[in-house]
Amino acid sequence: MNAPNAEPAEGATQRPPVDTGDELASRPVDTEVVVIGTGFSGLGMGIALVNEGRHDFVILEKATDVGGTWRDNSYPGCACDVQSHMYSFSFEQNPRWSRLFSPQPEIWDYLRRVADKYQLRRHITFGVEVTGARWDPDTARWTLRTRTAEGEPVEYRARYVVAGVGALHIPNIPALPGIERFAGTAFHSASWAHDYDLTGKKVAVVGTGASAIQFVPEIAEAVAKLTLFQRSAPWVLPKADGPIPRRVQRLFQFFPPARQAYRAAVYWLNESFAVGFNGHPGLLRIVERLGRRYLKRVVTDPVLRRKVTPKYTLGCKRVLMSNNYYQALDGPNADVVTDGITEVREHSVVDGAGVEHEVDAIIYGTGFHVTDSFDYLDIKGRDGRDLAAQWREHGIQTHLGITVHGFPNLFFLLGPNTGLGHNSVVFMIEAQVRYALAAMKLAGRQRVDAIEVRESAQAAFNDEIQGRLAKGVWSTGGCTNWYLDAQGVNRTLWPGQTWRYWLATRNVEPSDFELVNARGGPAGSPAPAVLASEGAGA
Ligand SMILES: Cc1cc2nc3c(=O)[nH]c(=O)nc-3n(C[C@H](O)[C@H](O)[C@H](O)COP(=O)(O)OP(=O)(O)OC[C@H]3O[C@@H](n4cnc5c(N)ncnc54)[C@H](O)[C@@H]3O)c2cc1C
Repeated sequence: MNAPNAEPAEGATQRPPVDTGDELASRPVDTEVVVIGTGFSGLGMGIALVNEGRHDFVILEKATDVGGTWRDNSYPGCACDVQSHMYSFSFEQNPRWSRLFSPQPEIWDYLRRVADKYQLRRHITFGVEVTGARWDPDTARWTLRTRTAEGEPVEYRARYVVAGVGALHIPNIPALPGIERFAGTAFHSASWAHDYDLTGKKVAVVGTGASAIQFVPEIAEAVAKLTLFQRSAPWVLPKADGPIPRRVQRLFQFFPPARQAYRAAVYWLNESFAVGFNGHPGLLRIVERLGRRYLKRVVTDPVLRRKVTPKYTLGCKRVLMSNNYYQALDGPNADVVTDGITEVREHSVVDGAGVEHEVDAIIYGTGFHVTDSFDYLDIKGRDGRDLAAQWREHGIQTHLGITVHGFPNLFFLLGPNTGLGHNSVVFMIEAQVRYALAAMKLAGRQRVDAIEVRESAQAAFNDEIQGRLAKGVWSTGGCTNWYLDAQGVNRTLWPGQTWRYWLATRNVEPSDFELVNARGGPAGSPAPAVLASEGAGA
């Protein structure tokens, strides 16, 4: 269950011995902070705690290695679509990125190196999935229910929980009618079947999102037939990608100001898109013209061109970038179907026009559960409040995407309304890590057991962002997108420029929070030593 190299750090959490029988293995584990997940979020939080000199925390990860998104998504062509020098930790810049937009193996490798450098593996327990958490007001602690890979239940108790469970993590697989009869192979892009050879096969690809446009060109040449089922045509712009010459890598390594300057230039270039997305569609029309011109240049077949021309305002769905997607669809073995899927048979897929397409494999490029991704976690807060039910009934509401009223000492990283369509989410995650730590320190300094955001602060935040989001291209651009919940409210994206978020999270405003003590303990129980120390931001 534990990481193979798990050496207990000084002051580390006491873990139960493993493999010594059910009784011992299920003894609760007590710690100060439980962090869930080992993607950019969980690792970022772990590093911040280590930098504070803290070792009383555990990171729980259901998989067997760190990396999150970049461990799971190993499909051919997988790469970031935000420039690597921006899509990485600001404090761990990598001068040796091989390309402007690096491929998945390089990003995963980067995250593993970072985990090793900060000796995080000694804090990580792999193969443990958190299934639920319950707040106990008497002790002012969370009890987390978990399940090991062997199905063994283990409880963890912690004062603070930091959820870095990922926003694009649970594959969304459509319930195609008749799929149970399908005799071929079917898999999602996030769990690519590497042992299934696609060479010479007839392949149906369902979906045209960010993953599909990356893997379609990679498989198009090898397969006998590629049938792409498209619900709506995405905006695809040419990708300003390419290898970074060795001499530039060396410059970035030995002259850090050059790397910093490049990163800053990329940041501000990306930020300029936020202006168009947020109520200035005129700016987007300029980019749309470029997109249409590119499409006209690379797709010669007028029928195909009509099919793949987007019918909504650029930015309403994520803007995609590729230098070979359209070209792959223009090939002799490719077909784009826009009539939907009505039925899957043993060896075929039938489209909405009644045409039967023979297929050996179905690949879902259908994205992830986003606005309903917390339905899988059973989180019970103060007075037995059920987080998923509350969000289902009243809509997802948080304060800064990080804290939720009624759920003390719980912090989300890359939580609701902090996703981005135009820049690196690592920038947001770093702001959230700093904020969560500052909130813990505030509670420590005030010598209280728990910190809970006030309902008024949460309501004010939501009113403000929803007012701005309603004018954004995601709501006005004429498309259906995964940013919106079932009621059509955007619960996913941060509206506007990210430096505004950085400013909003720069300090924890004490008046936004209630500071409370355990009901069952003496008032003002001693503050944890390190968290009580003065620190940035609070
Ligand atoms: C193919 C792809 C490309 C992307 N490219 C970009 C890009 O270029 N730029 C950008 O800004 N964003 C991009 N994203 C978004 C990406 O998800 C985020 O940038 C970032 O990686 C999220 O990090 P995270 O740590 O919050 O979540 P994740 O990376 O999803 O990590 C979550 C971790 O938590 C673990 N976990 C989840 N639930 C539990 C549980 N209950 N118990 C225990 N462990 C659990 C998971 O196993 C996982 O390791 C991309 C996403 C995908 C899918």
